[in-house]
Amino acid sequence: MKVLVATEKPFAAVAVDGIRKVIAESGYELQLLEKYSSKADLLGAVADADAVIIRSDVIDAEVLDAAKRLRIVVRAGAGYDNVDLAAATAHGVVVENTPGQNSNAVAELVFGMAVMAVRNMYNGTSGTEMKGKRLGLQAYGQVGRNVARIAKGVGMEVSAYDPYCPDDVMVADGIKPVHSVEELYAGNDFVSIHIPATPETKKSIGFDLITKMPKGGVLINTARKEVIDEEGLDKALEARADLKYVADVKPDSAEELKARFGDRVFFTPKKMGAQTAEANINAGIAAARQVVDYLRDGINKYQVNK
Ligand code: NAD
Repeated sequence: MKVLVATEKPFAAVAVDGIRKVIAESGYELQLLEKYSSKADLLGAVADADAVIIRSDVIDAEVLDAAKRLRIVVRAGAGYDNVDLAAATAHGVVVENTPGQNSNAVAELVFGMAVMAVRNMYNGTSGTEMKGKRLGLQAYGQVGRNVARIAKGVGMEVSAYDPYCPDDVMVADGIKPVHSVEELYAGNDFVSIHIPATPETKKSIGFDLITKMPKGGVLINTARKEVIDEEGLDKALEARADLKYVADVKPDSAEELKARFGDRVFFTPKKMGAQTAEANINAGIAAARQVVDYLRDGINKYQVNK
């Protein structure tokens, strides 16, 4: 059986070595398609693959049509909005992600960006501290939980809004459950966004929510740019000169926002949350193990298109 690793942006060499070892031990064949420059290369490589491991690579209906033997796609990472789930289901292909493998990396970046924001982008002026401040987590999933762990160490008061997470899970972690998104924004000095991009969440964060934040509020987005209503964000930053927005998911209007709001906004040049050696290795190897578990034993614990 052939396992294709199709990565326009390749894994670190040490991660590829780990993947190679897992696949070799299972007796399967590994094919690497790295830094491919055209979709035709991907269409050709998937033709005889039984499994595909990807990163941010797009798996759409055309790729699935070309992949006649494909049984499983594993997205090494958390977000899987680059895979057409409906088309995969229609083709009988299992789609999995590798939850939790990069969440500490993303959580640490949240703090890197938050400190930078409250220290005025290190411009030499006096800033504020995070200890004793209120942090609201919009979603209490893998990343949110890691942010909470670090925030407690920093001495912050942490609350979270996640309608799909039972209150007792948060309470057990010492986190205050909040039951509306409006309450989350109104009651926190920092709000950190950790929701997936879904039809329900896309463009759901705009002027009304952002301007609910108290004076000096800092909004941090390491989730997806699509969850922001960019026009609303622009208006909110215009109306409230005390607010800041820092993101690892660059908005489409990044240049305009930067020109208009200067040091009150910050965007990483490209998505960097999961860009650590540890996360890269963890996610790649987890993906290889999940492929083997499924092809050999039918285990589909992390299937996202059930
Ligand atoms: P996760 O699946 O573990 O958690 C997502 C959480 O969102 C779940 O607890 C779910 O109940 C909750 N949720 C869903 N809809 C919600 C809503 N409308 N309101 C509040 N909560 C809601 O995912 P994760 O690993 O924590 O990742 C979170 C986000 O971060 C995803 O969008 C992912 O794509 C993104 N991410 C970005 C990077 C990066 O490099 N910047 C890396 C990893 C993950």
